Amino acid sequence: MFNELFTPRFAQPAGSPIRELFPYLSRPGMISFAGGYPSPELFDAEGLREASARALTDGAASLQYGPTEGMPRLRNALAEHVAGRGIRCTAADVLVTTGSQQAFDLLVRVFVQPGDVVYVETPAYPATIQTLRLAGAAIQEVPVDEDGLDTTRLAVMLEAAPRTRRPKLLYCVPTFSNPCGTLLPTARRQRLVELARQYGFVVVEDDPYGELTFSDDATEPLYCHGAGPAGACNPVIYLSSLSKTVAPALRVGWMIAPPEVLRRCAIAKQTADLCTSPLNQLIAAEYFASGRYLATVRHARAEYRRRMEAMVGALERDLPGRVRLVRPKGGMFVWVAHDAGVDPQSLFCACVEAGVLFVPGRAFYPCNPDPHTMRLSFAAPGVDDILEGVSRLTRAFDAALAVGVEHAL
Ligand code: PMP
Repeated sequence: MFNELFTPRFAQPAGSPIRELFPYLSRPGMISFAGGYPSPELFDAEGLREASARALTDGAASLQYGPTEGMPRLRNALAEHVAGRGIRCTAADVLVTTGSQQAFDLLVRVFVQPGDVVYVETPAYPATIQTLRLAGAAIQEVPVDEDGLDTTRLAVMLEAAPRTRRPKLLYCVPTFSNPCGTLLPTARRQRLVELARQYGFVVVEDDPYGELTFSDDATEPLYCHGAGPAGACNPVIYLSSLSKTVAPALRVGWMIAPPEVLRRCAIAKQTADLCTSPLNQLIAAEYFASGRYLATVRHARAEYRRRMEAMVGALERDLPGRVRLVRPKGGMFVWVAHDAGVDPQSLFCACVEAGVLFVPGRAFYPCNPDPHTMRLSFAAPGVDDILEGVSRLTRAFDAALAVGVEHAL
């Protein structure tokens, strides 16, 4: 009976391609390069324990429902926090969300009707694609290169699009993208904002990795480039999260946007969850107040850089000529393109057999997948596991090639 009653979009919905890999994770000895999980060793459990204890001393606030827009203490702390990356805003410009995933979901509910055109940098974070598909958006891929979103190609697409097929939104991760780890250069940031103003679309800047840099170069968010001269409208809506720097279990993310957008997103949030857990918000506020945040992030940068170097070094050493990759400038991921002679499905099966997991690249394309690609995360496994995982991957390449040869015979 139920099957006849589902809405068309949920009649045969595709689940998250990454979450579908979970059953393989429980295999004994499996080394996973698959999830976007931060390293558990980097969680500041002691700092969070103290922050939780302090948050609970005011039980009337932390255990009660809170305002949909977020707890004032956290909104203030977040406005101060983003000032450190060059974003000038006040607490009133910040909407606290249940992870940044919710922030994007709210924006899609507020802006996108079935058939509306949305541009997405491609390859892209799969949950973004999933959200847009469920909303019935007409997704168009904007290609990226080793520097991120290709603004020259974007300009050509916009120029060619009839007025009625122009995008409402463009989604990108300009700073240490998921899945490519690229950093969009300043000139492209400026060009993107210029194009958004010229063609009247909103740029959604998703920035959960912006602080996880592997160099000393400043990483000013795209949002800052949108601020423009006094009075000019900033076409960028900024999303970020504590998931990758503090802990995903807090489920604390946020959006910075003009009041007319925030008000509508807050109304959409009322029907989603009333408010983000006040207890978690106050833990986050206490954690900022404790002054431990900076040391935690510095530690994560150094450790992720070490792991990234181990992974990239091992891939270049063990699979020369068989994989192409761009050394990530920050974040948690390496994007790998491999030899077209290797069948992607055989490679995936050989990897599972060898005890190493990755996310097949097709999950990151809304329309036209390049199956000879994969995303590897270096964040969660330690260096020894990374080296062992790459050597299993190398054996899996040999096994998959052997299968290919057998089929050809
Ligand atoms: N955006 C990107 C690009 C991500 O990689 C992730 C998590 N993998 C999210 C958003 C969602 O993060 P959260 O909801 O935990 O803040």
